[in-house]
Amino acid sequence: DPKFRLRDVEVFYGESRAIKKISLDIAKNEVIAFIGPSGCGKSTFLRCLNRMNDSIDICSVKGSLELDGDDIYNSKRDVVELRARVGMVFQKPNPFPKSIYDNVAYGPRIHGLANRKSDLDEIVENSLRKAGLWDEVKDRLDATATGMSGGQQQRLCIARAIAVSPEVVLMDEPCSALDPIATAKVEELIAELSESYTIVIVTHSMQQAARVSHRTAYFHLGHLVEVNDTNKVFTSP
Ligand code: ADP
Ligand code: ADP
Repeated sequence: DPKFRLRDVEVFYGESRAIKKISLDIAKNEVIAFIGPSGCGKSTFLRCLNRMNDSIDICSVKGSLELDGDDIYNSKRDVVELRARVGMVFQKPNPFPKSIYDNVAYGPRIHGLANRKSDLDEIVENSLRKAGLWDEVKDRLDATATGMSGGQQQRLCIARAIAVSPEVVLMDEPCSALDPIATAKVEELIAELSESYTIVIVTHSMQQAARVSHRTAYFHLGHLVEVNDTNKVFTSP
């Protein structure tokens, strides 16, 4: 069974239809890249997957969106729980103005995932290790996150997202604000994370889609034009 099953999904901003009848399955542990020109609806579509659009009053979503067979837009469903299952990383690294430790511990605390300090310590360490950041920060977990480099901040945001053991991580242009070296580190990380998580990434870069994704989905003017196996598209004859 797919991780996401999306049928005839439409998204409106007021009367204006930004996403036009998209149907798509996303498999467990796949990395799928959404690509297309600015304004074609990639972000809007991505944000349906954890109801990040809910905060925009004029935004409405139609169609069927299921995560492991559960209706994402069932109004009784707890959005906080959904966002723990479907984590998100944004274009601009946005750590909380708190310590490195507290950034990663934030979700586990809210969701009551650790009863003892030692359990929380373990979650924080494991999440930072998975984000490739542990060795860089283990001696300064009390330092403020906003003092880190941009690339470190973005990997911290990834650690914060995975600390609550999500099934899916959504990434909206996660490298667009990073320099090439930090970008390469995050791309490496995406490959490692795909062993444990389903990853949906929005990117404007074909090269990035080629490097990190299994499938590439092309958007144009709110339509999903095509979905291809990435290696078939980018392997030259
Ligand atoms: P990007 O393409 O990198 O996502 P945008 O400039 O399209 O950046 O969007 C930045 C922010 O502005 C987003 O939060 C988006 O929802 C909002 N936005 C984009 N287009 C409009 C619009 N026509 N009216 C109001 N808000 C918009
Ligand atoms: P992309 O991520 O591909 O750049 P977006 O999803 O940001 O595209 O935008 C798709 C369309 O929806 C654009 O026409 C944009 O102006 C519009 N849009 C995005 N956010 C908003 C918003 N908050 N209010 C109104 N229109 C929006």
